Amino acid sequence: MSRPPRIAVVGSANTDLTTFANAFPRPGETIFGKSFDLGFGGKGANQAVAARLCGADVIMVAKVGNDLFGEATVKNFASFGIDTTHVCIVDDVSSGVAPIFVEPSGQNRIIVVKGANDTLKPADVDAAADALRSVSTIVLQFEIPLETVYYTVQFARKHDIHCIVNPAPALPAKLSELAAAEYFIPNETEAEAITGLPVHSMEEATKCAAALLQIGFRKIILTLGARGSLLATAQGAEFVSPFSVSPKDTTGAGDAFIGSFAVFLAEGFPEKEALSRANLYAALSTQRVGTQKSFPRRAEFEVEWIRRSGNP
Ligand code: ADP
Repeated sequence: MSRPPRIAVVGSANTDLTTFANAFPRPGETIFGKSFDLGFGGKGANQAVAARLCGADVIMVAKVGNDLFGEATVKNFASFGIDTTHVCIVDDVSSGVAPIFVEPSGQNRIIVVKGANDTLKPADVDAAADALRSVSTIVLQFEIPLETVYYTVQFARKHDIHCIVNPAPALPAKLSELAAAEYFIPNETEAEAITGLPVHSMEEATKCAAALLQIGFRKIILTLGARGSLLATAQGAEFVSPFSVSPKDTTGAGDAFIGSFAVFLAEGFPEKEALSRANLYAALSTQRVGTQKSFPRRAEFEVEWIRRSGNP
């Protein structure tokens, strides 16, 4: 068998602290909650886990605090077999955390503390340069300082490494600094925020992708939730059909899509098949609750792919 592809994620790691309660406390009030769940998250970490579960050798470049969550995050990466050599534990700042409060209706309130993620700087990319030069693809998101994202895109270009930028969450960024990336992959909300154009119909999605190409990107992929995805290049735009599922929780579908797409592409599948496979991998992730916990393993994915490919 050929060697697994090597993928690096330069990105965030967070711990989601989810409390389920009958109501939100009023100012000054203390209430009992019903239950609590601790989950590992952060878009970078999620995409790294998806890529690893798809079979890639994955290097994570990230920062966590010198606290319980930082230690647990490193352990979580290691439990998946992700290379944590470049996950640095830093003093004087907390790990990234997201306290989440959920009411019975499903309504939630979330406060994200970026913590150590905000200290991941270009110098950290330089410190990981030897390892990064060994990968076929680098994957980036917007939960670390944008200067680090810009720097890594240039690093990838200089060393002829494929680069995928997932502009999530939507932030005002210098898009010209990102145009050297091979793939720019926003979801509908992010694409709307960047272009100011609506993405409610397939026609609008095509126009929005064309506007992103005008900015200078080479290849745009829009993820369109239950409508699948759209690939747009100078040669034209093409929809890639979704797979029909009964979703239980769509959290992390975008991360499943990006992490798996990076692997399928690096394995040498034709672009369109890599996209179709990523559509299925992400669709399968919506059938379970949670984020990393909902991502299927490669063997499970392949069974579904054989069953469903040809009948999306
Ligand atoms: P995000 O999680 O960033 O909002 P999307 O909602 O666009 O991203 O989902 C990413 C991908 O997951 C989609 O392109 C699609 O392939 C798949 N997906 C998401 N929701 C569904 C769904 N309800 N049915 C089938 N596929 C889905």
